[in-house]
Amino acid sequence: MLSARGRVFLTLLIGIALLVVIVAFLQRQSGHYRPTTPSPAGATSNPESPIGFVVTLKLIVPVAGVQRNQLLDTFADSRSEGRVHDAIDIPAAQGTPVVAAADGQIIKLFQSELGGTTIYQLSTDKKFIFYYAHLQRYADGLSEGKSVRQGEVIGYVGDSGNAGLGNYHLHFSIAAVSDPRRYWEGVNINPYPLLKN
Ligand SMILES: [Zn+2]
Repeated sequence: MLSARGRVFLTLLIGIALLVVIVAFLQRQSGHYRPTTPSPAGATSNPESPIGFVVTLKLIVPVAGVQRNQLLDTFADSRSEGRVHDAIDIPAAQGTPVVAAADGQIIKLFQSELGGTTIYQLSTDKKFIFYYAHLQRYADGLSEGKSVRQGEVIGYVGDSGNAGLGNYHLHFSIAAVSDPRRYWEGVNINPYPLLKN
Protein backbone atom coordinates (compact mmCIF):
# COMPACT_ATOMS: atom_id res chain seq x y z
CA MET A 1 0.00 0.00 0.00
CA LEU A 2 1.19 3.53 -0.82
CA SER A 3 1.22 6.15 1.85
CA ALA A 4 -0.93 9.26 1.43
CA ARG A 5 2.17 11.23 0.48
CA GLY A 6 3.10 8.53 -2.05
CA ARG A 7 -0.33 8.73 -3.71
CA VAL A 8 -0.11 12.53 -4.03
CA PHE A 9 3.38 12.20 -5.58
CA LEU A 10 2.18 9.55 -8.04
CA THR A 11 -0.86 11.62 -9.08
CA LEU A 12 1.40 14.63 -9.63
CA LEU A 13 3.79 12.55 -11.77
CA ILE A 14 0.97 11.23 -13.97
CA GLY A 15 -0.42 14.77 -14.31
CA ILE A 16 2.93 16.15 -15.49
CA ALA A 17 3.39 13.28 -17.95
CA LEU A 18 -0.07 13.90 -19.42
CA LEU A 19 0.66 17.62 -19.74
CA VAL A 20 3.90 16.91 -21.69
CA VAL A 21 2.04 14.59 -24.08
CA ILE A 22 -0.75 17.14 -24.64
CA VAL A 23 1.70 20.02 -25.30
CA ALA A 24 3.69 17.87 -27.76
CA PHE A 25 0.49 16.90 -29.56
CA LEU A 26 -0.72 20.50 -29.82
CA GLN A 27 2.67 21.64 -31.19
CA ARG A 28 2.45 19.02 -33.94
CA GLN A 29 -1.08 20.10 -34.77
CA SER A 30 -0.11 23.76 -35.07
CA GLY A 31 2.76 22.92 -37.43
CA HIS A 32 5.60 23.70 -35.05
CA TYR A 33 7.66 20.90 -36.52
CA ARG A 34 9.74 21.23 -39.71
CA PRO A 35 9.79 18.79 -42.60
CA THR A 36 12.88 16.60 -42.52
CA THR A 37 13.56 16.80 -46.25
CA PRO A 38 15.28 19.99 -47.42
CA SER A 39 13.13 21.98 -49.82
CA PRO A 40 14.36 24.42 -52.47
CA ALA A 41 14.65 28.15 -51.83
CA GLY A 42 14.53 27.55 -48.10
CA ALA A 43 10.84 26.88 -48.30
CA THR A 44 8.88 25.33 -45.47
CA SER A 45 5.49 23.70 -45.21
CA ASN A 46 4.04 27.17 -44.68
CA PRO A 47 1.34 27.81 -47.34
CA GLU A 48 2.75 31.34 -47.74
CA SER A 49 6.05 29.88 -49.01
CA PRO A 50 6.81 29.60 -52.76
CA ILE A 51 6.28 25.86 -52.74
CA GLY A 52 3.01 26.16 -50.88
CA PHE A 53 1.90 28.79 -53.34
CA VAL A 54 2.70 26.75 -56.42
CA VAL A 55 0.59 23.95 -55.01
CA THR A 56 -2.33 26.39 -54.87
CA LEU A 57 -1.73 27.38 -58.53
CA LYS A 58 -3.75 24.38 -59.67
CA LEU A 59 -1.66 23.73 -62.74
CA ILE A 60 -3.06 21.90 -65.72
CA VAL A 61 -1.14 19.39 -67.84
CA PRO A 62 0.52 21.64 -70.45
CA VAL A 63 -0.12 19.30 -73.40
CA ALA A 64 -3.60 19.14 -74.92
CA GLY A 65 -5.33 15.79 -74.52
CA VAL A 66 -2.87 14.33 -71.99
CA GLN A 67 -4.49 13.14 -68.76
CA ARG A 68 -2.91 13.53 -65.32
CA ASN A 69 -2.76 9.76 -64.83
CA GLN A 70 -0.67 9.35 -68.02
CA LEU A 71 2.24 11.35 -66.54
CA LEU A 72 5.51 9.75 -65.49
CA ASP A 73 7.85 11.22 -62.91
CA THR A 74 11.17 11.76 -64.75
CA PHE A 75 12.43 14.61 -62.52
CA ALA A 76 15.36 12.70 -61.00
CA ASP A 77 16.44 10.96 -64.23
CA SER A 78 20.05 11.46 -65.25
CA ARG A 79 20.95 13.18 -68.50
CA SER A 80 24.17 13.67 -70.49
CA GLU A 81 27.30 15.10 -68.87
CA GLY A 82 26.19 14.32 -65.32
CA ARG A 83 23.14 16.54 -65.47
CA VAL A 84 19.89 15.71 -63.70
CA HIS A 85 16.69 16.09 -65.68
CA ASP A 86 14.95 18.46 -63.18
CA ALA A 87 11.84 18.45 -65.40
CA ILE A 88 9.05 16.27 -66.66
CA ASP A 89 8.85 14.90 -70.22
CA ILE A 90 5.37 14.55 -71.65
CA PRO A 91 5.27 12.48 -74.85
CA ALA A 92 2.71 13.46 -77.47
CA ALA A 93 2.27 13.39 -81.23
CA GLN A 94 4.13 15.97 -83.31
CA GLY A 95 2.15 19.21 -83.52
CA THR A 96 -0.01 18.57 -80.43
CA PRO A 97 -0.92 21.96 -78.88
CA VAL A 98 1.14 22.99 -75.85
CA VAL A 99 -0.94 25.05 -73.44
CA ALA A 100 0.01 27.39 -70.58
CA ALA A 101 0.05 25.42 -67.32
CA ALA A 102 -1.11 28.52 -65.43
CA ASP A 103 -1.82 32.21 -65.99
CA GLY A 104 1.29 34.33 -66.50
CA GLN A 105 3.44 36.32 -68.85
CA ILE A 106 5.71 35.17 -71.68
CA ILE A 107 9.05 36.66 -70.75
CA LYS A 108 11.44 34.98 -73.18
CA LEU A 109 11.25 33.09 -76.46
CA PHE A 110 14.60 31.43 -76.89
CA GLN A 111 16.32 29.13 -79.37
CA SER A 112 18.57 26.91 -77.32
CA GLU A 113 21.04 24.25 -78.40
CA LEU A 114 19.68 21.71 -75.92
CA GLY A 115 16.07 22.88 -75.49
CA GLY A 116 15.49 23.81 -79.14
CA THR A 117 12.51 26.14 -79.49
CA THR A 118 11.66 27.20 -75.93
CA ILE A 119 9.33 29.42 -73.91
CA TYR A 120 9.92 30.98 -70.51
CA GLN A 121 6.70 32.03 -68.76
CA LEU A 122 6.59 33.99 -65.50
CA SER A 123 3.86 33.20 -62.97
CA THR A 124 1.46 35.98 -62.01
CA ASP A 125 3.16 36.41 -58.62
CA LYS A 126 6.58 36.56 -60.38
CA LYS A 127 7.98 33.79 -58.17
CA PHE A 128 8.05 30.97 -60.70
CA ILE A 129 9.25 30.33 -64.22
CA PHE A 130 7.48 27.72 -66.32
CA TYR A 131 9.77 26.43 -69.06
CA TYR A 132 8.57 24.63 -72.19
CA ALA A 133 11.12 23.05 -74.55
CA HIS A 134 11.63 20.97 -77.72
CA LEU A 135 8.73 22.79 -79.41
CA GLN A 136 8.01 22.38 -83.11
CA ARG A 137 7.00 26.05 -83.25
CA TYR A 138 5.35 28.87 -81.31
CA ALA A 139 1.63 29.62 -81.46
CA ASP A 140 0.77 32.37 -83.94
CA GLY A 141 1.04 35.81 -82.34
CA LEU A 142 3.04 34.65 -79.32
CA SER A 143 5.54 37.32 -78.29
CA GLU A 144 7.69 38.32 -75.35
CA GLY A 145 5.66 40.37 -72.88
CA LYS A 146 2.35 38.79 -73.82
CA SER A 147 0.07 37.75 -70.95
CA VAL A 148 -1.43 34.30 -71.36
CA ARG A 149 -4.25 32.51 -69.60
CA GLN A 150 -4.13 28.98 -68.29
CA GLY A 151 -5.01 26.59 -71.13
CA GLU A 152 -4.11 29.05 -73.88
CA VAL A 153 -2.19 27.47 -76.78
CA ILE A 154 1.39 28.79 -76.74
CA GLY A 155 3.16 26.32 -79.01
CA TYR A 156 3.23 22.84 -80.53
CA VAL A 157 5.01 19.63 -79.50
CA GLY A 158 8.15 18.89 -81.50
CA ASP A 159 11.58 17.31 -81.30
CA SER A 160 13.79 20.42 -81.55
CA GLY A 161 17.07 20.76 -79.63
CA ASN A 162 18.48 17.53 -78.21
CA ALA A 163 15.12 15.75 -77.92
CA GLY A 164 16.25 13.18 -80.45
CA LEU A 165 14.87 12.92 -83.97
CA GLY A 166 11.24 11.82 -83.85
CA ASN A 167 11.18 11.70 -80.03
CA TYR A 168 8.26 14.12 -79.85
CA HIS A 169 7.60 15.35 -76.32
CA LEU A 170 7.25 18.47 -74.21
CA HIS A 171 10.03 19.06 -71.71
CA PHE A 172 8.40 21.09 -68.90
CA SER A 173 10.06 22.48 -65.80
CA ILE A 174 9.19 24.85 -62.96
CA ALA A 175 11.81 27.00 -61.23
CA ALA A 176 11.42 29.15 -58.14
CA VAL A 177 13.22 32.42 -58.93
CA SER A 178 14.35 35.14 -56.55
CA ASP A 179 14.77 37.66 -59.39
CA PRO A 180 12.31 37.29 -62.30
CA ARG A 181 14.68 39.24 -64.58
CA ARG A 182 17.15 36.38 -64.17
CA TYR A 183 14.66 33.87 -65.55
CA TRP A 184 17.32 31.28 -66.40
CA GLU A 185 18.36 30.94 -62.76
CA GLY A 186 16.26 29.46 -60.03
CA VAL A 187 15.67 26.28 -58.14
CA ASN A 188 13.84 23.61 -60.08
CA ILE A 189 10.95 21.99 -58.29
CA ASN A 190 9.34 18.77 -59.43
CA PRO A 191 6.31 19.48 -61.65
CA TYR A 192 5.08 15.89 -61.36
CA PRO A 193 3.22 16.02 -58.03
CA LEU A 194 1.84 19.46 -58.97
CA LEU A 195 0.44 18.21 -62.29
CA LYS A 196 -0.58 14.83 -60.99
CA ASN A 197 -3.07 16.23 -58.45
ZN1 LIG B 1 13.22 16.54 -70.73
